[in-house]
Amino acid sequence: MSIFGKSVFGNKATDSIPTPSPEAGTGAPGPAVRKSDDEWRSELTPEEYHVLRQAGTERPFTGEYVDTHTEGVYQCRACGAELFRSNEKFDSHCGWPSFWAPLADGTVRYIHDRTLGMDRVEVRCTNCDSHLGHVFAGEGYGTPTDQRYCINSVSLKLVPRSTREPAPAES
Ligand SMILES: [Zn+2]
Repeated sequence: MSIFGKSVFGNKATDSIPTPSPEAGTGAPGPAVRKSDDEWRSELTPEEYHVLRQAGTERPFTGEYVDTHTEGVYQCRACGAELFRSNEKFDSHCGWPSFWAPLADGTVRYIHDRTLGMDRVEVRCTNCDSHLGHVFAGEGYGTPTDQRYCINSVSLKLVPRSTREPAPAES
């Protein structure tokens, strides 16, 4: 019987290795913005954190942009990436801000979501991998794409057009 029979290192090999992101090993490029959970918690309000980082959903008809028609660009609340425009926003009356297309290809990414017994497509910010909402197709809203990007207000930040592009001075 030997006290050297077992390596003292044997039991703690993986104790301090951080958990890799779920996408690790798929070969897909990761988000440009990566922050620790603590950083996100300190930068976001509890509600923002819950929706953006825990894929929560704000209650319908409570978000600040549900009925907004202001012209402008909707940025990601977490990282500031430009995601949607008022041009593609439409009144779906579903209780959340709805868009029929993102601002450009690649600004959002899609993940198959089978939680809650539903078969949905989750929409995330490509730049920081934060949860935005879901996209639905074929609902008959009569929009150019027949898609509805159902996005949480709390995931977005509207930058009104007037503050982005000052009216040109008359000569
Ligand atoms: Zn983002």
